[in-house]
Amino acid sequence: MAEECTHDCSTCGADCSSRNTQQELTEKLNQYSSVKKVIGVVSGKGGVGKSTVTSLMAVMFSRMGHHTAILDADITGPSIPKAFGISERAMGSDKGIIPITTHSGIDIMSVNLLLENETDPVIWRGPVLAGTVKQFWTDVLWQNVDYMFVDMPPGTGDVPLTIFQSLPLDGIIIVTSPQELVSMIVGKAVKMAQMMNIPILGIIENMSCYVCPDCGRKHYPFGESRLEEVAGEYGLDILGRFPIDPKCSQACDKGKVESLLVPEAQQAAEKLEKLLG
Ligand code: ADP
Repeated sequence: MAEECTHDCSTCGADCSSRNTQQELTEKLNQYSSVKKVIGVVSGKGGVGKSTVTSLMAVMFSRMGHHTAILDADITGPSIPKAFGISERAMGSDKGIIPITTHSGIDIMSVNLLLENETDPVIWRGPVLAGTVKQFWTDVLWQNVDYMFVDMPPGTGDVPLTIFQSLPLDGIIIVTSPQELVSMIVGKAVKMAQMMNIPILGIIENMSCYVCPDCGRKHYPFGESRLEEVAGEYGLDILGRFPIDPKCSQACDKGKVESLLVPEAQQAAEKLEKLLG
């Protein structure tokens, strides 16, 4: 143990015998809650469709008969309640905060369900943002959840890092766009997960192509995909390629994500279900 040891391994890089394991750094779940598997959905930057993919995965897992939940950890850009058409406020009980349940039975917690006015911006500093996400884990009543999807804040900064350490993630899915694949952004997300010893379940390329509704031809507005090359470089499983689909953005804008039929998302969910066991 270092002489100046503060017993806070999250701020120290020393590899000593008294080092806490990742498990010990994670927060404890509410005593009335039960969550079997926790999957983080990450992206290198905002706008690639991370929240959309999180919502679609939750919808597909729910359709497969699992009790599914979404913890919206993207505190400064919460878009999950809107995609599901939820506008009511979450209430508390003496056992904890009660998540809102969607039409199809998905339990959701997001900062937008707690704000007085959902258009209010969240202007909080990093520790408060990370503290809120920890409370979503410790203080919310997650009852009999089979699969929880966590919509992580984008990037590899302080807030995503703290959340990575605080939640007992069983694995992460990396969401990317064709443009991101030509930069180093995906590599950074991969390395962060590896450094934190969190398994990478696979990669999803969103907005992969546009299929012409008239002739069925595929167009690549963001350039030809390098998904296979990048997945090979980092040893990642490809879970799927989701096309650009105006129906998808319209459904999310109207709060109707649960009515979408996306065969690519269905196939990705089936692969993921197998991987998770
Ligand atoms: P992020 O969570 O990465 O910031 P979002 O999921 O909020 O990104 O998506 C950004 C915007 O792109 C939203 O308006 C969303 O509806 C739209 N979008 C995401 N994926 C698709 C897709 N496959 N086809 C069409 N629109 C999409």
